[in-house]
Amino acid sequence: MIRQCHKQDEFVRRIERALGVQMKDVSCKIVDRQGMADVMAKAGWSRNESSGVVGFQIEKQVYVLDSAPWTVLHELIHRAGVNSDRLSRFVAEGLTEAIALELRESSDEHQPTYPTEVAWVRQTLLPRLGMTAVALGRVIARSKNAPRALAELMVRVKPGADLSALEFELRPQNPVQPSFNKNQGHVTRMNFELNQPNNPVGFDSSFGFGLLFLVAGTVLTTPVLVHRWGQWGGV
Ligand SMILES: [Zn+2]
Repeated sequence: MIRQCHKQDEFVRRIERALGVQMKDVSCKIVDRQGMADVMAKAGWSRNESSGVVGFQIEKQVYVLDSAPWTVLHELIHRAGVNSDRLSRFVAEGLTEAIALELRESSDEHQPTYPTEVAWVRQTLLPRLGMTAVALGRVIARSKNAPRALAELMVRVKPGADLSALEFELRPQNPVQPSFNKNQGHVTRMNFELNQPNNPVGFDSSFGFGLLFLVAGTVLTTPVLVHRWGQWGGV
């Protein structure tokens, strides 16, 4: 018997309706700790890195830890096209969480992860764009070039901003994350906020605020111009 992920069909219908996409042939597998480690090892992650991981999306496949049904909605939003294969991981995770918050209907459907990323998306990006997370997710998920589409929206509310520089910063993955480049995977960690340092572990003085965060054993850089776009005056 095939066990479906928690509310899988219901979530797929809800996400398809909200984001205006067809997800087709969704495969969501429930795995135990060992299964998660095996899946991640196949994608190039070490056993160590799989510790604490509750959800994993790679290409068309979604894996969810048996003890964490609350991450299914998050992973399926990635699967619908809001993910770091298509857009900066920082923005993709924050927007995925923001969309999950708008789409969740009960407490079993979501637990917060990626607090830094979602705070930036909900408190800076969305208010300045004048959009809901679902509305932005619809643009991202349906776009052939998600970084370009978001950069265009950002420039629209701040005409002086550099479109191509923003597009470059919003590009998928990051050269300083070899394992992400190699793996093309998206992970959600239990108690992520405990793992994520409140203080930057690195600081690039040439930009002033190149905050680095340790994520899943690799280093994630907050996009600098994207950050500045949110700090400058304007709308
Ligand atoms: Zn994620």
